[in-house]
Amino acid sequence: MSVTIDIKDLGLTRQREVVLRVIRDEQEHLTASEIFDKAKQLLPGISFATVYNSLRYLKEAGHIAEISFGSGASRFDSKLTRHDHAICTKCGKLVDMEIELPAEVISFAAEFSHFKPESIELTLRGLCPDCNK
Ligand SMILES: [Zn+2]
Ligand SMILES: [Zn+2]
Repeated sequence: MSVTIDIKDLGLTRQREVVLRVIRDEQEHLTASEIFDKAKQLLPGISFATVYNSLRYLKEAGHIAEISFGSGASRFDSKLTRHDHAICTKCGKLVDMEIELPAEVISFAAEFSHFKPESIELTLRGLCPDCNK
């Protein structure tokens, strides 16, 4: 996976490099406007449109993944290997989960939908430890 390639070696423009750096440095999965806020600290004067276009470019180039959960803004993920997410229904916190799903899950889903399966994702919704205190 390209995750380990140094940002400097990707030949990105300064703006795209800053946007990718923000996403990689952050453990959380940020929305475009959160990325914009952080990118401005590194590169004052960067516009929201530039951040937005950089996100589209980086996604198409396979450097980041976009995740969306129904309503609510898309979030961006620097982790490209298959993984699942847990999302807090109160504060919206999103964390990565590395869970091995039983093979039967995808077969059941394929049988039910009559789809030819490629991948399946698991999303756990509930209260995060902070909200559950
Ligand atoms: Zn929470
Ligand atoms: Zn993730």
